[in-house]
Amino acid sequence: MSETYDIVIIGGGIIGAAVAYHLAKKNYGKIAVVEKDQYLGNCSTAKCAGGIRAQFSSEINVRMSLLSEDKFETFAQDMDAEVQFDQVGYLFVLTNDEQVKTFRAQFEMWKRLGVPAQWLSRDEIKSLVPVLNVDDILAGTFSKKDGIGDPHQFTQGYVGAARRLGVKFLLETEAVGIAATGDKITSVKTYNGELLTNTVVNAAGPYARQIAGFLGIDLPVVPIKRQIVTTAPLDFISESFPMVVDIGSGLYTHKESGGLLLGWADKNTPEGFDESVDPEYTDTILMKGLDRIPQLETAEIKTAWGGLYESTPDHHAVIGPSGEYPRFFHCTGFSGHGFMHAPAAGIVTAELICGEKTSFDISPLSPHRFVGAVLGEEGTVI
Ligand SMILES: Cc1cc2nc3c(=O)[nH]c(=O)nc-3n(C[C@H](O)[C@H](O)[C@H](O)COP(=O)(O)OP(=O)(O)OC[C@H]3O[C@@H](n4cnc5c(N)ncnc54)[C@H](O)[C@@H]3O)c2cc1C
Repeated sequence: MSETYDIVIIGGGIIGAAVAYHLAKKNYGKIAVVEKDQYLGNCSTAKCAGGIRAQFSSEINVRMSLLSEDKFETFAQDMDAEVQFDQVGYLFVLTNDEQVKTFRAQFEMWKRLGVPAQWLSRDEIKSLVPVLNVDDILAGTFSKKDGIGDPHQFTQGYVGAARRLGVKFLLETEAVGIAATGDKITSVKTYNGELLTNTVVNAAGPYARQIAGFLGIDLPVVPIKRQIVTTAPLDFISESFPMVVDIGSGLYTHKESGGLLLGWADKNTPEGFDESVDPEYTDTILMKGLDRIPQLETAEIKTAWGGLYESTPDHHAVIGPSGEYPRFFHCTGFSGHGFMHAPAAGIVTAELICGEKTSFDISPLSPHRFVGAVLGEEGTVI
């Protein structure tokens, strides 16, 4: 195999699919997505909790979310796909003065940027989600535009629409090298042969550092395991149960198949590709869940899984051309937010590749930031 493409995207998760679709929509030319797995969306995208929110601490993440939420809302019609964005809202609960102060400042920023969040008292939180133990809660924020979606459905939506526009998805095709002459890319090498191209997108999720390494670039995107546990159906979970994020404990939980999905980011987890389920990690999630929702005591555990975050030092994505090779673009490092930011990431990456002005300023996500100052800590909650 030695075919020529106008662009080769490495990675067939939701990010690679979204970038491919937005390029095809702009008639970019011959587009290939290479995916080493037998299936698309089978890596981090398949492990995702499905959370979609605009309540972030940094402006750039809020902007990524606002554009993405608009696109999620019209995705079914725009892409002729069966998807559901269940806008049950995200509720953040705050349990100390420091958190309240931080969120008060963020709340002002959200209002300025157009996030329709509300500030809630303890009583308002109790009436919104009666099963919550609110004894230690001081206040909270809630945005009804946030919610949950099925990452598989949205990935397939992008893939289907991209295919209809002529994008080739090459499965079981692992990229093993990128060739260049000077600062110009000439091809992507795979186990199935060479794909001639002058432009490459690194959308390899937790493997993004390896892809950058093909060109001798040290991209600080590392895989870190995160675990999730789900329960069997629970009679106290209503259709409108929102995503609840407990800022103090780091627990997050949302309704899932009649029960609950619960997760938490153990900040002590070492980086690495291990995805095995650690029973102690699962127990810690459940203990945090019980503290916030005592009725979980009777819950039957359905399943647990581990998956990889593709994390950067400042927990923000890396989007843009590498300094060393102007036609080698990164779109990765979403640090737990790659599903919810896929629509905006696909749009702005396609704009960059086409040499257009981006929909909004994405310079804070530039790969170049790692050689200088970094963004503030975003935190690792979903
Ligand atoms: C437990 C968990 C919960 C999460 N919850 C949320 C959430 O609620 N909301 C949210 O927005 N995000 C969440 N995320 C994060 C989200 O899942 C990821 O940010 C997102 O899926 C990243 O998509 P991607 O396409 O970049 O990566 P991936 O889905 O990992 O896709 C990358 C693809 O590249 C392929 N690849 C790698 N190397 C090569 C190679 N050499 N050649 C060819 N192909 C290659 C891989 O096989 C893979 O399919 C969660 C993640 C985890 C693990």
